[in-house]
Amino acid sequence: MTDKFDAIIIGAGHNGLVCSAILAKKGKKVLVLEANEQTGGAAVSREFHDGFSVSACAHLLYQFQPDVIKELNLQLDIVKDNLETIVLAEDGSHIKYSDGKISGVSDEDEKSFNKFHKRMTKFGALLKTYLNKPPARLGTKNSKDLLMLAKLGFDIRRMGKTEMREFLRLIGMNIHDELEERFENPLLKGGLSTDAIMGTHLGPRSPNTILTYLYRMAGCEGKISLPKGGMGSLSNMLTETAKNSGVEIKTNSEVKKILINEGSVSGVESKNGDIYSSSVVISNADPKKTMMHLVGPKHLEIRFTHRIDNFRMKGNAAKMHFALNKLPKINKFKDSDFEQRLLIAPSEHYVEKAFNPAKYGESSPKPVLEVTFPSVSDNSLAPDGKHVMSVIAQYAPYNMKSGWNEEDRGEFIAAIKSALRLHMKDIDDCILAEELLTPLDIEREFHITGGHWHHGEFTLDQFMFVRPVAGFSQYKMPIDGLYLCGAGTHPGGGISGACGRNAAHVILEKG
Ligand SMILES: Cc1cc2nc3c(=O)[nH]c(=O)nc-3n(C[C@H](O)[C@H](O)[C@H](O)COP(=O)(O)OP(=O)(O)OC[C@H]3O[C@@H](n4cnc5c(N)ncnc54)[C@H](O)[C@@H]3O)c2cc1C
Repeated sequence: MTDKFDAIIIGAGHNGLVCSAILAKKGKKVLVLEANEQTGGAAVSREFHDGFSVSACAHLLYQFQPDVIKELNLQLDIVKDNLETIVLAEDGSHIKYSDGKISGVSDEDEKSFNKFHKRMTKFGALLKTYLNKPPARLGTKNSKDLLMLAKLGFDIRRMGKTEMREFLRLIGMNIHDELEERFENPLLKGGLSTDAIMGTHLGPRSPNTILTYLYRMAGCEGKISLPKGGMGSLSNMLTETAKNSGVEIKTNSEVKKILINEGSVSGVESKNGDIYSSSVVISNADPKKTMMHLVGPKHLEIRFTHRIDNFRMKGNAAKMHFALNKLPKINKFKDSDFEQRLLIAPSEHYVEKAFNPAKYGESSPKPVLEVTFPSVSDNSLAPDGKHVMSVIAQYAPYNMKSGWNEEDRGEFIAAIKSALRLHMKDIDDCILAEELLTPLDIEREFHITGGHWHHGEFTLDQFMFVRPVAGFSQYKMPIDGLYLCGAGTHPGGGISGACGRNAAHVILEKG
């Protein structure tokens, strides 16, 4: 089959959908080809046990950009807003924080936390201004690029001498040193470390963990919410918005190859042999998959191939879903506490120790966990009186020494359960069914190379001007008509819509 589209988008992840809707609203004829049966990519809800549904990968919303909401006129259906983070203590002396407020810590820690939060919010806000536009190109004489760089310098300087120095000091630093200097409560340090390392191959002592923390803060100042019906409802809304704007979406349509004719794209070929033509192809698939597999090195310059091949993207976050016949008991917990975001990260040392084995291809025997019970706020997810527990578990390295065989899986499930059991003594009596998604499973189910949260590690050497690689951070790839729009581009992963929106505007600008 041959048809002519103004643009073809490979992948209906939330970024692909945002990109498609913006292009279509400007009158472009857009086709989206999605490998899976469902749209949404890693932002989907699905049943994992009879009558029990869950956000199958991303489960909490904290980075979705107001600019995207405004441009697409979206009305998000949020079932629970402003979730608190509760860092669990075995003896019930949990600490809670949200939106700059904290409880369960000493007065000293409370004061330090307020100061820390204020500063991080300010630095996050600075970063946020730059999330919603393509980064400037370095080393050009183009006035727009020069202006943007000058503005960035000015914005940093404008914070005042002390804050500017502090920003520059912190940006490449590890969060461990900063937390050690400021706080005494180990739970607080464990919680904030976890905020910094989620989705990365980094421990609290790794450089760049302040950057990852700031990126999180840059989303919605750290405010967390839970979409009704799980993350899939957000993707469904984006799918409807795209369709209503005229986008054609074909699911179960995996793209095998990007077609290239004399250095320019001419369309794509699907796995079942269908050919779709367009002089603009935009990939929501990750950079490595797009360039190394869908395009192929023979079309690429050697230095570029080398850089893309070296783009680090080995996932470290696993997802675990539990169907529960009742809620577990947690020491000194109120009913409403089950609606919040719970962390099992008793200290920053615990988090660092959990990271250590991952460096050598082993999973954490004592993993760091982010736990939610979405069915407590949203009864559409489980049968009456029953519940769903959704857990992100780190560290679960993609490149496990033994390749995630049954034994590895069993060991990691046991490790997750024993971490849970310390705080939920009756958890074994509650579990009806369970499902583990390792980064390898995530790669298979969501077609993300390495199963990486951000489609590529989030560190200064893969950030902003050099994301995914130096010279190609403006969404356009080194083949005429080929663009990226997924999390592997600026600004990075998380459910933000920013990559898709920025890419769409670059493409529209080029006509
Ligand atoms: C375990 C885990 C938990 C996470 N939790 C959170 C969270 O709580 N909150 C948060 O904000 N973020 C979270 N994230 C990160 C977030 O899910 C991703 O950053 C985000 O989904 C990326 O969106 P995307 O649209 O760029 O890409 P994706 O969601 O990966 O979508 C890409 C789409 O392209 C399709 N595709 C790929 N190749 C092809 C092909 N050849 N042909 C056709 N289609 C193709 C895929 O099937 C997919 O639908 C989590 C990530 C992981 C791994």
